[in-house]
Amino acid sequence: MLKLESVSKIYYNKGMIATGITKVNLELKLGEFVVITGESGSGKSTLLNVISGIDSYEEGEMYVNGKETSHYTEKDFEEYRRKYIANIFQNFNLINSYTVYQNIELILLLKGEKKSNIKKKILDIINKVGLTKFKNTKVSKLSGGQKQRVAIARAIIKDTPIIVADEPTGNLDTKSAEEIIELLRKVAKDKLVVMVTHNIEQVEQYATKIIKMHDGRIVSCNEIKKIKENKDIMECKYNEITVFNKIRLGIRNTFNIFSKFTLLFIVFLFMSIAFLTEYASFQLAENEADESGYSIGFRDISDNRILIKKQNQSAFTNEDYARIKGISNIDYIVEDDLFIDCSFSLNRDDMSFYGNILDIKNFRGNIDLGRKPNNDNEIILRIGRKHFYITNRIDEVLGKTFSIMNPSDNEQIKDLTIVGIQYSKDDNDYNPKFYSQSETLRELRSLVNKNYSDLKILFNNKYVQYNIEPNDNVSKGCVILDDDLKYQFKNYKIINQPVDISASNIYYEEKISLKVSNTFTKSNFKRLTGLTKYENYRNTLFINKEDYNSLFNKSSYQSSVYVKNSEIIEETMLELNNIGLKAKKVTDYKVDDSATYKQIIKIIKVVVTIVVIVVLFFISYLIVRIILKSRNVYFTTLRMLGASFKNIKRILDIELFINSSLSYISVLLFIHLVKTNIVNVDFIEQLVNYLSLREYIIMYIILFFTVKLLSRKFAKKIFKSTAMNIYNEEV
Ligand code: ADP
Ligand code: MG
Repeated sequence: MLKLESVSKIYYNKGMIATGITKVNLELKLGEFVVITGESGSGKSTLLNVISGIDSYEEGEMYVNGKETSHYTEKDFEEYRRKYIANIFQNFNLINSYTVYQNIELILLLKGEKKSNIKKKILDIINKVGLTKFKNTKVSKLSGGQKQRVAIARAIIKDTPIIVADEPTGNLDTKSAEEIIELLRKVAKDKLVVMVTHNIEQVEQYATKIIKMHDGRIVSCNEIKKIKENKDIMECKYNEITVFNKIRLGIRNTFNIFSKFTLLFIVFLFMSIAFLTEYASFQLAENEADESGYSIGFRDISDNRILIKKQNQSAFTNEDYARIKGISNIDYIVEDDLFIDCSFSLNRDDMSFYGNILDIKNFRGNIDLGRKPNNDNEIILRIGRKHFYITNRIDEVLGKTFSIMNPSDNEQIKDLTIVGIQYSKDDNDYNPKFYSQSETLRELRSLVNKNYSDLKILFNNKYVQYNIEPNDNVSKGCVILDDDLKYQFKNYKIINQPVDISASNIYYEEKISLKVSNTFTKSNFKRLTGLTKYENYRNTLFINKEDYNSLFNKSSYQSSVYVKNSEIIEETMLELNNIGLKAKKVTDYKVDDSATYKQIIKIIKVVVTIVVIVVLFFISYLIVRIILKSRNVYFTTLRMLGASFKNIKRILDIELFINSSLSYISVLLFIHLVKTNIVNVDFIEQLVNYLSLREYIIMYIILFFTVKLLSRKFAKKIFKSTAMNIYNEEV
């Protein structure tokens, strides 16, 4: 069966060389019961380990069934051990957290046997070693003798031709030792048993061969009984462990040590939470960057707003609006869409705030405080609850009269009374809306148009920068201006000089030609204009109200429509095109001046995410490694029992996978509780707003691969050296 020719094993340890065994010649047959003795350090264990394929050898040759093994790789030896060798160790090498039954079952599961076929076999062997009463007892609760019986049962049930036992009785009292040896002899009749012991008397009556070792050499080999080897050697059939059994072991390992389960659970909890908060806070940052993208011309860049113009550039008519209203996805139309984008301030005593004036026709919902307006000078204010400047002093707002100011010169235009307040759905709406009567809007429209227009005034053959104001005292086609301007002309002849004014904006261009009819001085200013503050108007051209209106009081050239469902906004735009309108989403005008900022955020996000994941991975790995340290013995034992790298990785995978998934599910449950307001944590609520299904899935995948990496690294460690080296390190 086994033949060793001049086999030597040398240990190199930190520069020191030690001889394990030197030039050992030995032949071992099936049916033999070989006992090896010798003082400590004589090389007995080394010899057994070489025979078992747990350790390599440097010189000579070992034949298994006549085949050389000197060229064997680590993998070949694994294979050899699976087929031929069952080990019994001095320190039992059992899984303490498993029951007797589970310990014995383990080897059969690893051999790929089906659970249903093995129950009887296991109970049989447990009976044979006399442990039936303890079959469901955890091994950690057994005495040394009982443990060794389990180890023997496990070695026997593996059903290999060779059983190797290194001082199996070393830790036992005499009586137990005798029982163990007798048991071993009885159940291993046709096998080759190689056993190390110090106590020759105990084994003399069973041994067929007694080998004495000294200083790495065999000094005597006493063949007590000649054995004729049976030619048909039964290799042990070793199949792959079934997927189902891998899962069973994974599940068993997940829960069988409570403290380990809890610790791992907490680590994964920490990982999941850290991943998710890290991700969410970056989403938050990105989102804030997103919102800071604004349009120069448009204050409202919400994604349900479409700008419309007529294809022939003319002003909108009531028929146009009627047709637009016929489109199903249209929520409402803002005819004077300039008002959406132009803000006015309302002033009163020490209070002042900006907002948009909107047509009361577009007011939706109920008034939360106060009442509806009854006349042209009353308005409704709509504001988010968190606009504390206003909401903290409702008394100073509701029912009070404010002056609306001209944004260009901050002159008072009109007085408006806030009679009703509506809170926006969005508490964070910091952009007040003033819902006013159509008449007020009409009055303000000219002003808005003027503010939005590029004014060109050609006077004295030069373009000049003057303000234009309507004045009732000026006749149509005339201009009244500052008397000092006459000094620019020959003979100071300014009367009847031409003034050409053109106003152009993105919607229209309008020109009028006027003539200077009079000039004002400090003394006649009031008489000519009806106004008082002469100093304020030195740069103003006063023109007739009609002329003024022809420049600025235009009916709408651009309106906005708001759609109900912004997801089908493209279709709505097509429908608008079909009725002769040019339609453009306001979001297309979004000037993204935060593009670089966003780019930087993106890069930082990617880098930080990677760094965080790497750091988290290593923290988790270190913690998991510490936690799994107690599992090294378990997995090394699995390896000793013949589990492959892949098997071990997979079994650990399953355990970590179950644990991490449970952790992750707990986190999701908690988030659910926060979202449904059963648990109230503002900070988390804000963050989880930025997590969607996609993020949850991504996080789970990251967790999944972290687990895979962890188990891979761990399994690699278990396999980084020969089984013996690893075992020595761990035990
Ligand atoms: P025994 O089992 O008879 O007590 P061993 O086979 O364990 O003896 O040891 C034989 C010799 O090999 C001893 O001198 C021991 O120091 C050396 N040895 C055993 N294992 C190692 C090892 N892992 N590294 C270095 N030297 C070792
Ligand atoms: Mg030893």
